[in-house]
Amino acid sequence: MKKIIYITIITIIIIIFLTIMFIKKDNNKAIINKPFSNYPFYKNELLNRYIDYQKINNTNVKDTIIRVNIGLDKPFYTNSKKVTNPDNFNVLVNKYHYLDKEFIPKDLVDTTKYSKGNIKLRKTVYDQFLKMADDAKKEDLNLRLISSYRSYDYQENLYNNYLRKDSQEAVDSYSARPGFSEHQTGLSIDIDNIYTNYNQFEITLEYKWMCNNAYKYGFILRYPKDKEKITGFQYESWHYRYVGIKIATYIYNHNITFDEYYYEFLDK
Ligand SMILES: [Zn+2]
Repeated sequence: MKKIIYITIITIIIIIFLTIMFIKKDNNKAIINKPFSNYPFYKNELLNRYIDYQKINNTNVKDTIIRVNIGLDKPFYTNSKKVTNPDNFNVLVNKYHYLDKEFIPKDLVDTTKYSKGNIKLRKTVYDQFLKMADDAKKEDLNLRLISSYRSYDYQENLYNNYLRKDSQEAVDSYSARPGFSEHQTGLSIDIDNIYTNYNQFEITLEYKWMCNNAYKYGFILRYPKDKEKITGFQYESWHYRYVGIKIATYIYNHNITFDEYYYEFLDK
């Protein structure tokens, strides 16, 4: 009889203990939940991923939400979605957003000035580039297009050629997989200053000028230094993306990537 009473008492104590723990855990969740849900880009269904990401990376609440929304808590190229607005100047193409194999921008034009060979890009982007290159020229600086629109097939060849000499992990750090290249949008440009190899663009006066002026024409440095974990690409001093003057100015003033801008303001 005594034994039964003891067991009952112990069982009751255990149940009370577990109940308290459960309530406490739920309260914790509610406390964490509060600041997360204060942000307009918070997604309730991702709450557990926010909590996990923050635990591992120790990021502030805003960065945690934006990075998980980008998809950065999962490896690059996982959960990737097809782009539905490929013609928009604010389209996001990254390692989680790919373009249809058949997508070709409708308003591609041939470049005639400040261009190395047969390069095409979207008309608005070329008009803006010409204004920018003309203004740079007034300061004796040379901006020259070396690559812009690239078709799916071209990117596929390029990527596969790189794979012949480097591991996939290495190639992924500097070349986009076909469909995932921003160059297919016709909104990206690679430039040099004619005299210096493009991958040395960083050491040129033209680069300095671009850092201070590109946004005024609607261009951003798309893969900045120290943002590799967000963009998934090595720093590329020669690669710029047209996003329009308003967005470019915001990105310039806040020192963020386009991926972050997109998930703060454009993700619907
Ligand atoms: Zn590029």
